[in-house]
Amino acid sequence: MNAKEKIFLDEEEIPKEWYNIQADMPSPLDPVLNPATREPITPDDLAAIFPMGLIKQEVSTERWIPIPEEVREIYRLWRPTPLYRAKRLEEKLKTPARIYYKWEGVSPPGSHKPNTAVAQAYYNMKEGVERIATETGAGQWGSALAFGTMLFGLKSTIYMVAASYDQKPYRRVMMETWDGEVFRSPSKNTEYGRQYLEKDPDTTGSLGISISEAVEDAATHDNTNYALGSVLNHVILHQTVVGLEAKKAFEQIDEYPDVIFGNVGGGSNFSGATFPFAGDKLTGKKPDLKIVACEPMACPTLTKGLYLYDFGDCAGMTPLLKMFTLGHTFVPPPIHAGGLRYHGDAPLLCKLVKDGWIDAVAYHQTEIFKAAKLFAETEGHIIAPESAHEVRAVIDEALRCKEEGKEEVIYFNNSGHGHFDLGAYDAFLSGKLVDYEYPAELVKQALANLPQAE
Ligand SMILES: *Cc1c(COP(=O)(O)O)cnc(C)c1O
Repeated sequence: MNAKEKIFLDEEEIPKEWYNIQADMPSPLDPVLNPATREPITPDDLAAIFPMGLIKQEVSTERWIPIPEEVREIYRLWRPTPLYRAKRLEEKLKTPARIYYKWEGVSPPGSHKPNTAVAQAYYNMKEGVERIATETGAGQWGSALAFGTMLFGLKSTIYMVAASYDQKPYRRVMMETWDGEVFRSPSKNTEYGRQYLEKDPDTTGSLGISISEAVEDAATHDNTNYALGSVLNHVILHQTVVGLEAKKAFEQIDEYPDVIFGNVGGGSNFSGATFPFAGDKLTGKKPDLKIVACEPMACPTLTKGLYLYDFGDCAGMTPLLKMFTLGHTFVPPPIHAGGLRYHGDAPLLCKLVKDGWIDAVAYHQTEIFKAAKLFAETEGHIIAPESAHEVRAVIDEALRCKEEGKEEVIYFNNSGHGHFDLGAYDAFLSGKLVDYEYPAELVKQALANLPQAE
């Protein structure tokens, strides 16, 4: 049995191929639809804002896709990431369960997001693109993209939601340190932004507005493409380095998880960390493996959303994706501090949940911060509020194991550190956080005015 605290792989063991779960799914994904024609989207539709290298990955059903050596070379800066055994947490809970976590907080931007940002920057560079435009909320994705583009000599333009731009300046400084150009969104830099500001000069912005600005910027400049930090198949593909490394580390200590937890915002870190294991479940090698997606009660996409076609953005400009959704007009309540605010989720993950391969649970924010506090007391790391969702689930599972005297192996993906989220910790520690459960009726209302695609 493993006695180590951290399992490190050698740099040579950074995966050479990404894993594409589409090859092992019993039935294919529903097509992405063109919002104007309601017909399946074609690669040409996407070519205005994405490089062909990524479009090919988006629609590929090949099981293994080679990771370019130039991308692996940059992964070496922080990969392979350690697989920790959470021994002090186990001891504190007096559980017979063995708890392991992959720690993505060691990357320079502090999360899993550069795993895809670096890859996306590479494929854009290869096709002669000079600049990438994107949106960011609190700044996790924007900082990862600024980091990735800088390393391949590309420029980045980041539309940052005005409220975060004003309240959370440090991620902006990070982006600017990595040569990113950051606009407070809505901005005067795009037609959409100018129109919006004219209508509502005091707006604090939204992710939907910022997406619209970034897409317009990319679509109206020949040398510029757009990039997305979650949801799409190619993003999830890139994130499978997390799960592939974890699998190898488990092999080295002769363990295999019985149950896996992860948090879901758009689904990229969860899917990346779990799909290489989920593949074993789909192909009958590990039929009893339990895989659980954790989300906030305030944004309960998988647990309360409906499975149908919806837009990816709030403005209703993107292609239609088949997914669990709270409706693209969903606005997270301002009291919610735990992140994971997206109205939909990755179509790949949604399908596996819909077909019963993966379970989902939702948590209140005070209980997730309690879990994060206990994690910091025992394991030291102050984790992102997003990651605190699965830590809550892990603690509950470990306590159940104690009650039942069960020696389970638990694995979770710790997606990032919380050093820029100390405001939320402060609110929790001073008793200011309150719980909020998004009502199911509001989901029905929001979905009543959806585009009818079927
Ligand atoms: C962005 C982010 C998430 C949520 O996004 P996913 O695409 O669902 O992974 C979770 N944790 C951290 C630390 C993040 O930065």
